[in-house]
Amino acid sequence: MFTIDDLADRLGGYLPADEIQQVKRAFYYAEQSHDGQRRRSGEAYVTHPLAVANILANMHMDHQSLMAAMLHDVIEDTSVDKPAVESQFGESVAELVDGVSKLTQITFEDKAVAQAENFQKMVLAMSRDIRVIIVKLADRLHNMRTLGALRPDKKRRIARETLEIYARVAGRLGINTIRIELEDLSFQAIHPMRAERIKRAVVNARGHRRSAMHQVQSTLQQSLEEDGLRGTAMGRQKHLLSIYRKMRDQRKSFAELMDVFGFRIVTDDVASCYRILGVVHNLYKPVPGRFKDYIAIPKANGYQSLHTTLFGPRGMPIEVQIRTREMEAMANNGIAAHWLYKAGQTDHPIAEGSRERARAWVKGLLEMQRHAGDSLEFIEHVKNDLFPDDIYVFTPKGDIMELPQGATVIDFAYSVHTDIGNSCIACRIDRQLAPLSTRLESGQALDIITAPAARPNVAWLNFVITAKARSAIRHALKHQQQQEAVQLGRRLLNKALSVFETSVEELDDSLVERALEELEFADRNALLESIGLGRHMAYVVARHLVDLIDGQGAASSESKSQQPVVISGSEGMVTNFARCCHPLPGDDVVGHLSAGKGLVVHRAECRNLTDKNNPDKLFTLEWADDIAEDFPVALRIEIESHRGLVAELAGLVTDADANIEGISIEERDARLSSVNLTLAVKGRVHLARIIKRIRNLHSVEKIYRLGQ
Ligand code: MN
Repeated sequence: MFTIDDLADRLGGYLPADEIQQVKRAFYYAEQSHDGQRRRSGEAYVTHPLAVANILANMHMDHQSLMAAMLHDVIEDTSVDKPAVESQFGESVAELVDGVSKLTQITFEDKAVAQAENFQKMVLAMSRDIRVIIVKLADRLHNMRTLGALRPDKKRRIARETLEIYARVAGRLGINTIRIELEDLSFQAIHPMRAERIKRAVVNARGHRRSAMHQVQSTLQQSLEEDGLRGTAMGRQKHLLSIYRKMRDQRKSFAELMDVFGFRIVTDDVASCYRILGVVHNLYKPVPGRFKDYIAIPKANGYQSLHTTLFGPRGMPIEVQIRTREMEAMANNGIAAHWLYKAGQTDHPIAEGSRERARAWVKGLLEMQRHAGDSLEFIEHVKNDLFPDDIYVFTPKGDIMELPQGATVIDFAYSVHTDIGNSCIACRIDRQLAPLSTRLESGQALDIITAPAARPNVAWLNFVITAKARSAIRHALKHQQQQEAVQLGRRLLNKALSVFETSVEELDDSLVERALEELEFADRNALLESIGLGRHMAYVVARHLVDLIDGQGAASSESKSQQPVVISGSEGMVTNFARCCHPLPGDDVVGHLSAGKGLVVHRAECRNLTDKNNPDKLFTLEWADDIAEDFPVALRIEIESHRGLVAELAGLVTDADANIEGISIEERDARLSSVNLTLAVKGRVHLARIIKRIRNLHSVEKIYRLGQ
């Protein structure tokens, strides 16, 4: 059985003693945390994290990745939490473990295949530290190796997810050893019979061709030596899934595929690669059009190599790959190869941030790209894949939505559908209610709660970031304001017309048309809107309309209507409550039309009502009977200063079912303070009750309402 000491021996090959010690400590911690837990196979659970760490050791990953591998299941499966890991092993290791746990929590389900591309991006977006993915890939690899006795349908589900997501992510990062093994294990789980047949056929074919292979290999090796070139030629095998795919997609027979011999020659430097190519082309005639120079023009994931196909002995095709040792490491381990080479070059590399290393990897690709002189598209592709600027979240149906970094719940709602944004009232993120302004993170599952009568809130504009949400909110608000202005305008005009004992509805259509033309309005609603917004005076318009009716008008126009306009406080954007006097239900109120703002409600005694000499702009208003809103009101209290003053006032106000919206205190002298208090109350009666209670405090000298 593989033990921690076996692993420690292996690590001795590339890690310093103190780092190996830390890896061991992480192992013992994991062993204790998982104590009593077993794997399905019956083995102690800790054998799994140990095996995962071993996979990473084969890739020469750093000690923090290995420690994270040891601890990767403790947060998910034991009582240990992230702070505990952090206090034991430091912040970076804790972040890695936490990152792996988060990836583990996502269930890709059946959507995986349809949205594989987005899922891959989500995985990358969730892993700010690229090592998180590498640990997760190793974890998945060991789980695939030990799928064992799972139910076939469950096996297939995991295998499909592995194939569509993890194998592809490994491919994007160039980690081909893991990609290939994940692909073959998945293939065997999904199509056990086909995999078995191909496997057996490969063994047979290899047996038949062994001597021919051997002959070509030694010929290659020999000609390298004759030309004084250092390099090792070896036979290459295709993996099961790639054989299967070629048979399926290129409709090739198995015999055709196995007819091709694959070789790889690994050498020291780039110059030798091209010289070896020359030697090989000299030895066997190349097949025209099959030479590819991936050294000059690397593949998107950084893969570099020379590829050529030759006519071998008796005309059998031979595929040859030629590359340096570094390229070989890159081809096998991709981004992970970076740790290998850094560690190899210096005694003890300064612990660079993993993101920095990943950036360095990308930079390396850029460098190669510059030499190759290819399009910028390639660079963008790689960069965006590794460090997506976008976030990826789930809709309730399990679809993935792509949003820019910093997007909020409201942005999400509008990106699903404008109607959903407009009627959004609340949201659940991962089943928890959350504020609409919450900034989203990749991997979250969102559920928007809507109400048919809901309207967008102007405050949303303060935090939304997508253009779609912004313009949809603006549009909806504008539309809403228009509607409300039309309604108010209709009420105001009807009130003015009631003096003449008529109403908009009763007027003759052709008459209204004429008036609209003369006043230069496109239609009836435009006129009403303009009245509602205070741009046109209802009284003047009414006069105009009435003047158009023969003989009517002047007679009764001197007396103004006694019927007041009724307000309920919930009219919306075209009815405003004056901040100077804070009118309350129960107060005598007067409406003032102000251009562009609509109706502003003042208390009748408000000093700011300077338009008294312009009665056309003023309206008598009346409160509706059933008002549900709270209204702000300002009070001043002169009170003897003492400790606990604010708490005392707050207690009184709350007991009286009101809310404090603002409070400020100034000291008047050594004994007295003035308190300015803004409350939200139901109305005049409610306010009177509160004032009475406050006045009952023996320290209160004086209390009065502001704004007269
Ligand atoms: Mn695991």
